[in-house]
Amino acid sequence: MILPTARTWVYPLSVNGRYQRIHRVTGALLQAVLFVTPWIDVGGHPAFQVDIAGRRLYAFGAVFTPADNLLLVLIGLAAAFSLFLFTAVFGRLWCGYACPQTVFLEEWIRPVENFIEGDRGRRMARDRGPWNADKTGRKLAKWSAYLLMSFVVAMTFVSWFSGAGVLWTGGSGSVAYGMVSFFTALMFWDFAWFREQFCNYLCPYARIQGVLCDDHSLVVAYDDRRGEPRGKDSPGACIDCLKCVAVCPQGIDIRDGFQLECVTCARCVDACAAVMAKRGEPSLVNYATLSGQPRTVRARTVVYASLIGIVSVAFVGVLAGRHEADGYISRSPGSLYTVDADGWIRNTYLLRLTSHENEPDQWQVEIEGLPAVAEVSAPSIALDPAATTTVPVVVRVPPGHLIERSTPLRVRVHSHDDELWMDTSFLSEGT
Ligand code: SF4
Ligand code: SF4
Repeated sequence: MILPTARTWVYPLSVNGRYQRIHRVTGALLQAVLFVTPWIDVGGHPAFQVDIAGRRLYAFGAVFTPADNLLLVLIGLAAAFSLFLFTAVFGRLWCGYACPQTVFLEEWIRPVENFIEGDRGRRMARDRGPWNADKTGRKLAKWSAYLLMSFVVAMTFVSWFSGAGVLWTGGSGSVAYGMVSFFTALMFWDFAWFREQFCNYLCPYARIQGVLCDDHSLVVAYDDRRGEPRGKDSPGACIDCLKCVAVCPQGIDIRDGFQLECVTCARCVDACAAVMAKRGEPSLVNYATLSGQPRTVRARTVVYASLIGIVSVAFVGVLAGRHEADGYISRSPGSLYTVDADGWIRNTYLLRLTSHENEPDQWQVEIEGLPAVAEVSAPSIALDPAATTTVPVVVRVPPGHLIERSTPLRVRVHSHDDELWMDTSFLSEGT
């Protein structure tokens, strides 16, 4: 990664227009999802929560445990291939409309900055001027607002892991509040200073754009056939007003051609549309493809769509075979078998059950593979939603009924509508 030696600070001019209205709507929807979801309760848990300490993922009533790793991998693959497909067709629309970095900068940071420090011209003039009471006061007010916003965003982000109710009421542990402090500092640094450099130098998604896109992917492009030669008195339509450059949050001139820094936010489209409207002409900058022909069906999109299809079928197959609980039986630590005072041979096991359900359930244990005289002592298991319970299972066989040192057993654990089978063995001296 090569960082520039000297950064040119970007002062984006405010802009309004069709695409900025779309930004506001998509931004509001995404923020509603981000801020409201941790507060929605489904079956006693947040609608979506990654409980790292409890090794659980709660998703709209479903509970995933480490035993569901395959499902989670398939979900991750489907999400990755979907992003590849979306990018191949729509270019960097994700960056322009849905990336949290863009949404927070556009919906929170720039409006607050404009409110406190004024629009582009005033901010540039003030930054060039000396530090005085006015400049210091406005900067402090702006940074205080950024700090507050960073804290709210960090709390919301950590709520997705800790649960909003417990986090906001001070009930989470020190690790959670440590994460809040870390993310507050990180976001303040990003909001106050790093900004567009994140897209240009750090974002991994931005780095793989060149591989995912081709000439048929959607980009924001300048119509140089109409626009050039540019200038107020030249025959080209571009009057060289530089509005498209002034509004760009990435600090680029889209008239120079396609650039990797462009996040396709369309601020330049709206800016030029306003300029051209006064001349009764359409914008010189627009969504377009480099080939000039949008083509959705092509080799890479077919491959990505096929991969999504394969992963989706696999996901449905794995989900259909998923039980209401996971079970695991192991021999009690340190015990092979014991001979009781009455001569019966005893094997002790530990049975662990993990619920995938949002309802409590009752499970029974049965053993197959032993002589009918064998005794099985196992409690009926009351399994709470999303809980893990471990119970002892004791099996006793009278002497003389087993000739093998190791007899295979099948353990059946069943609720009213599901059953699990586990294999283990009964150890004895043999005969
Ligand atoms: S060039 Fe236009 S679309 Fe690209 S980042 Fe700048 S303003 Fe947004
Ligand atoms: S806003 Fe339009 S007219 Fe003005 S410089 Fe940009 S492309 Fe040319």
